[in-house]
Amino acid sequence: MIRSYESRHGTQVPPVIEWLFELPAAAGQQVLRHLDLAYDNFFNPSHPAGYPQFKKRGQRLRVSFPGQTVEVRKLNRHWAEVRLPKIGWVRFRLSRSLGGTLRNATISRSGTGWHVSFGVATGRKPGPRLDKPGCGVDFGVAASAFVSTEDGPRKMPETLTKAERARLKCLEQKKARQLAYAKKHQGGRYSSRLRRTIAQIAKIKARQANRRRDFTHKLTTDLAKNHGYVGIEDLRVINMTKSAKGTVESPGARVKAKAALNRSVLDNCPGERRRQLDYKCRMYGSELRVVPAFHTSNTCGNPACSKVDPASRPGCGRLFVCVQCGFEDDADHNAAVEIDARARRTGGSVNNSTRRRLTASSPGSSRRRLRETRPALG
Ligand SMILES: [Zn+2]
Repeated sequence: MIRSYESRHGTQVPPVIEWLFELPAAAGQQVLRHLDLAYDNFFNPSHPAGYPQFKKRGQRLRVSFPGQTVEVRKLNRHWAEVRLPKIGWVRFRLSRSLGGTLRNATISRSGTGWHVSFGVATGRKPGPRLDKPGCGVDFGVAASAFVSTEDGPRKMPETLTKAERARLKCLEQKKARQLAYAKKHQGGRYSSRLRRTIAQIAKIKARQANRRRDFTHKLTTDLAKNHGYVGIEDLRVINMTKSAKGTVESPGARVKAKAALNRSVLDNCPGERRRQLDYKCRMYGSELRVVPAFHTSNTCGNPACSKVDPASRPGCGRLFVCVQCGFEDDADHNAAVEIDARARRTGGSVNNSTRRRLTASSPGSSRRRLRETRPALG
């Protein structure tokens, strides 16, 4: 069905956006609402959000519906179906019970297929204060997380098996080959085979992301449920994982190595862990205490000493040996103990954070930020 719309000024809606009319009206309104919120957050100086990112039509396929337009009925223990406007009843695998009043539904597409998720009002109150000792957690690269009250690190299991890694590498090479062919002979037009390769890569990557998410959720739930408070570092992930590429005039050094390090930092999704801990701690009656990150790995964990010296980490290895008192510990555990000590001392309000965006609160700052982002737009 093709319709053309004329606006008040007589300009026609370009045919490229005709597919928009296939979208249910309620879903379109929901998109506008999201966009409005995105701009609000951007112009709010105390909100860390940047300029809204525009997406291609096929990128991150995701449509939201308000609760009044959808209906869910359970078929049996494992299956249910949802009625979506303009689509009708769609069966889906019930991975968990809804457990509340339906407020909205979102259908999204990942490499493994289509998913539906529901926002529900559970009416759940924050839990009563947990009467348990607190802990500090160091999120590292070698040890995915080290809890100050535990003897060993918590390692994230391999997110891909050996065979999956091999297959992924093979597919990536195939994709590069097919891309080169498309550029040379097809004028850049993607062949169906290339599209199929891209879909196969996306499927493996989605599986990897699911396993990572599974570990993250289990870790944060366990931390929030079993500790009176959880101390974490106030890490600036964006600054930590900047590319070492440099510019054309002054190219950076060890770019590949830094990229690999960035990948392993992001593999542990520190920002997502913090977000989850924030709401889970409130839910279970625990408390999230964010402490400044300066020198946590160089401070001696011996309470009688607390000497800060980078030389205590010989060769930047996994061992911590205090230069003053000779105290020895695993470097990550030592950092976790220091984080715990800071969380206990300060009660966990970050007061000397150098987070640029969060501290920017002068009236001109939002305009300044807009100017900063403008070159990227043009
Ligand atoms: Zn010491």
